[in-house]
Formats: sequence, structure tokens, C-alpha cells
Amino acid sequence: MDDSVQICCTRCRNLFRDRAHRIQSGYSRQCPACEVVLFFEETSPDKNIKRALALARGLRKVLREMEAAGPRKAKPVAAGRRSY
Ligand SMILES: [Zn+2]
Repeated sequence: MDDSVQICCTRCRNLFRDRAHRIQSGYSRQCPACEVVLFFEETSPDKNIKRALALARGLRKVLREMEAAGPRKAKPVAAGRRSY
């Protein structure tokens, strides 16, 4: 499942994606197109930022629920194979 959300740059309107677990209040990142730094704050007056924060929060919740529901892990079997 895709764990990234779309962000719209407030300056150049470029659309790019970032991981949902990074996008939370206090996070900042640079737009890959115009290099302006976007600050993700819940109190931001910017609608794009608020939207991205809300999307990321929703997606994190879904991902958490999926993780809790599915016990299978995408990890190769590593236990019990140690060479002494
Ligand atoms: Zn930009």
C-alpha cells in the first residue's frame, strides 16, 4: 500500500509526495521544484499544508490498523539459524 500523501507547494503549485509518517506538526521539507521550505503546522493558515496534514493523519491511522489486523510481516525468517 502506498504510504505517501500528495503535497501541493504553496509557492510554485508543484505536486510532490512524501511519506505519511513524516508529515506531522513540526515537520518541514523543501519543495523539489522551487526549493521553498514548507512548514507543516496544525496552525498553518495554508490550506495545502492543512490538507496534507489531515491526509497524512488519516493514512497513518489506516496503516496502523492494517498492521494491527495482519500478523504477517514482510520479513524473511531469520530466527533459529545462528552459527555458533
Ligand atoms: Zn515549489
